[in-house]
Amino acid sequence: MVNIAIVGAGPYGLSLAAHFRRCGIPFRIFGRPMDSWVAHMPKGMMLKSDGFASDIYDPNRDFTLKHFCAERGIEYADSGIPVRLDTFADYGLAFGRRMVPELEDRMVVGLDRMPGGFRLRLDYGETVSARQVVLAVGITHFKYVPPQLAQLPEEFLSHSYEHHELGSFKGHSVVVLGGGASALDLTGLLRDAGADVQLVARRPSLQFHSGPNGAKRSLWKQIRHPKSGLGPGLRSRFFANGPGAFHYLPEQLRLHLVRTTLGPSGGWFIKDKVMRAPLLLGYSTQGAAIKNGRVRLNLQAADGTQREVLTEHVIAATGYRVDMERLRFLSADLRSKVRTVNGAPVLSSAFESSVPGLYFIGVAAANSFGPVMRFAFGAGFAARTLTRTILKSLPADSINIPGPSVIPSTTEHSRSLGEEPALRS
Ligand SMILES: Cc1cc2nc3c(=O)[nH]c(=O)nc-3n(C[C@H](O)[C@H](O)[C@H](O)COP(=O)(O)OP(=O)(O)OC[C@H]3O[C@@H](n4cnc5c(N)ncnc54)[C@H](O)[C@@H]3O)c2cc1C
Repeated sequence: MVNIAIVGAGPYGLSLAAHFRRCGIPFRIFGRPMDSWVAHMPKGMMLKSDGFASDIYDPNRDFTLKHFCAERGIEYADSGIPVRLDTFADYGLAFGRRMVPELEDRMVVGLDRMPGGFRLRLDYGETVSARQVVLAVGITHFKYVPPQLAQLPEEFLSHSYEHHELGSFKGHSVVVLGGGASALDLTGLLRDAGADVQLVARRPSLQFHSGPNGAKRSLWKQIRHPKSGLGPGLRSRFFANGPGAFHYLPEQLRLHLVRTTLGPSGGWFIKDKVMRAPLLLGYSTQGAAIKNGRVRLNLQAADGTQREVLTEHVIAATGYRVDMERLRFLSADLRSKVRTVNGAPVLSSAFESSVPGLYFIGVAAANSFGPVMRFAFGAGFAARTLTRTILKSLPADSINIPGPSVIPSTTEHSRSLGEEPALRS
């Protein structure tokens, strides 16, 4: 039986594994490395988070995005130069190869309790037992499609999560639904790809981050609007740097803050492209049907005005909602034992759910630790907190000799993740 299994190999799973490895905590980690970034965000996208807030975390900060960019000769700045999606995805894959060589590119298809721990079923049939399990599955299971669209056949409707390559939309009409960053990125990039794209959003106007203006920030500005991993401002600073304190706020206040903080907005760098596309703002979708091989969307404005739009395809860029019931690889029994509020697990100050030994990190932990858990910036806090907790719980003789903090980069290109030697308990 392995001491601890990490499910998920995005920024959170990788950061945690790098911490465990460094501290000698025996573990196994499963997941497709950086899958959300490699396969489920549109090619050509830029990150909204600044360079300094887009790290994956090892305890000594030996391999930051800045280090990676310096090694590869990629232009980098802590802020002011947007990070490209392919740069961040490549960085994450390199981080996995270097800092977490034991990563197993396998999916967990079943998870259940057993005496003394948990049983995980992997694709290809292997079964693994673990005393404790950390779920770091990110956004992968939580895409949300409004019920008004749900009955559309899949050739006419998709979620933004399903799009990386946009070339197949060239010459076709497509409506992007939503007013957040995903919708705005897709609208701009689909336009670049030669699609006849239209954006439909409930919001009467679109919000974009303000870009760098080159001016030096006054001392007062630096005090009143300090920089943070979630953008400038005292509130953002608190959410970015104080997830441990956030956890102690009353539940209703936490839920309200998570719902209302950092609302939908796009990066400044996509604004020009989006504003050149046809925009239907202030309309909500009432229903949708197929008519003569096209989707007919019925829209309604706030003043009751009705409108119809015909298109070949609708992309719902309508976000993600954490819902325990969506984690179908957990057995029904296990799902029913995890206490939830609004579908998200209720977590202790150490990320533990009401099922002892079962932890959640990443977006599923946002209601407990705040909006920073929706971003890579929160992965450092999650990894440090959980590593401290696990270290305390393990008998001294089960701790391995810590692995080297950095595997030299010269080995990196000749090894694939699956070929690395395993470090298992
Ligand atoms: C369009 C878009 C733009 C974004 N831009 C930013 C940004 O600029 N900055 C930022 O910080 N955040 C951004 N985010 C948020 C981003 O999703 C999170 O920051 C980040 O991905 C969280 O990392 P994670 O490790 O929790 O999850 P993910 O990156 O989603 O990784 C989940 C991992 O879980 C694995 N997994 C899932 N189910 C299983 C299973 N059953 N078995 C094994 N493995 C499994 C997957 O294979 C994957 O490895 C953006 C999100 C979207 C959708």
